[in-house]
Amino acid sequence: MTYLPFSRPSIDEQTIEAVSQVLRSGWITTGPYVTKFESALSSYVGGRKVRTLTSCTAALEIALMVAGVGKGDEVIVPAMSFAASANVILRRGAVPVFVDVDLVSRNLDVSSLEAAISERTRAVMPVHFAGLPVDMDRLLQLARKFDLRVIEDAAHAIGTAYRARRIGAFGDITCFSFHPNKNMTSIEGGAIVCDPADEVRLIEVERFHGIERDADGNIDVVSAGGKFNLSDVSARIGLAQLERLDAFNKRRRELAMMYFQQLCADPPGILPDAGDEGHCWNMFTLLLPFDRLGMTRTQFQQAMGKRGIAIGVHYPCIPGLTAYRKLDYREDRYPNASRIGRETVTLPLFPAMTDDDVRRVCAALRDVLANRV
Ligand SMILES: *Cc1c(COP(=O)(O)O)cnc(C)c1O
Repeated sequence: MTYLPFSRPSIDEQTIEAVSQVLRSGWITTGPYVTKFESALSSYVGGRKVRTLTSCTAALEIALMVAGVGKGDEVIVPAMSFAASANVILRRGAVPVFVDVDLVSRNLDVSSLEAAISERTRAVMPVHFAGLPVDMDRLLQLARKFDLRVIEDAAHAIGTAYRARRIGAFGDITCFSFHPNKNMTSIEGGAIVCDPADEVRLIEVERFHGIERDADGNIDVVSAGGKFNLSDVSARIGLAQLERLDAFNKRRRELAMMYFQQLCADPPGILPDAGDEGHCWNMFTLLLPFDRLGMTRTQFQQAMGKRGIAIGVHYPCIPGLTAYRKLDYREDRYPNASRIGRETVTLPLFPAMTDDDVRRVCAALRDVLANRV
C-alpha cells in the first residue's frame, strides 16, 4: 500500500537537470534566473510588475509596509486562514480586525466587511481560500469607497481566474506563495505584484539590505532593509513550474470534480464551494461533524493514516490561537471560522494523483465514518 500525502510537488527530471546547470554555473544566488522568473510571472499576470521574495509571508509583510500600515492602524483579515495572514499585521505593530468567513466558500463575507471598517482601518487582506476567488469586484468597490489598500493573500490562488481575469492581473497588491504545498513551487519563495514605480522601488530596497545603487553602480544604504531575495536555484525551479502551472491546475480541477462525483450523492459533511472553471483547487476540504460522529478529528486522522492516507487541517480559527487569545481575541465571535477550525479536514489533492487515488480516499473515508476506527 503506497502512502498518499495530502500534497506533493511535481518536480520532473528536466527541472532537476536545469537546477544542476545552475548549481554548476558558479552563480547560484539572485541573478539572471530571478530576472527571468519575474518577467515570466509578470507575463502570466497580464504585464503587471512582479518582484520575487523568499516567501509569501515576507511578501505580505512588505506589502503592508509599502501600504504605509504601521503602529495602531487596523487591517481587516478573515478569521479562518493560515496564521501568517494575521501574524504579518501584528509584526507591523498594527491591529488585525477579524471578520467571519462563509461556511461553504470559506472566504470572507464581503457583506460583513463594511461593519468592520473604522476610522483607523488602512487595509483589507482577503484570502482566496483553496483557490476560490473572493468577490473582488464588490471588495475593490468597497475599498475605493473607504480609501483602503487591498492586499490579496493569494498564497492558494496562482492560476485562479475571477470573472475571466487572473488573480494578480487586476487589483492593488497581490502576494503569491511558492511553498511546496501550493499550486507551483520554488521550494520556498513568494512574489508580490504591485504597479506604482515608487512602491516597486521600496520592495527592491527592503528585500536587500536597504541598498540602492547610483548610475555609476555606487552603493548606498537608504533604510534598514531586510534580506528576502530569492536565489537563482529557486527561481530556476519556479520558472520550470510556471510553464506547467496551467496543466497542474487542470489536473487539480479534474481530481476535485471526481471528489464531488463520489461525495455529492451522500455527502459525509459540508462540501466546499465548487466555484467555476477559474477555481485553481489548491485544496479539497470538507467539514465533518465530529461531535455527532462520536470520534475526534485526531482519531479520524489516525484511522485514515492506518489506511495509508494523510489528512490535513486547514485551518484553525486564528483568534483562538494562543498568540491571539493572549491579545483578548475570542474565537466564539466568529462562529463559522470557529466551526471550520474544529471540523475541517483536507483530503489529498495534487497533480500526480491518479483517478484511483481519489476512489481510494473516498472508500477509506466512508469506511472510517462507518466503523469509527
Ligand atoms: C502558505 C500560506 C502563506 C504563507 O506562504 P509562505 O510562502 O509559506 O510564507 C500565507 N497565507 C496563506 C493563506 C497560506 O496558505
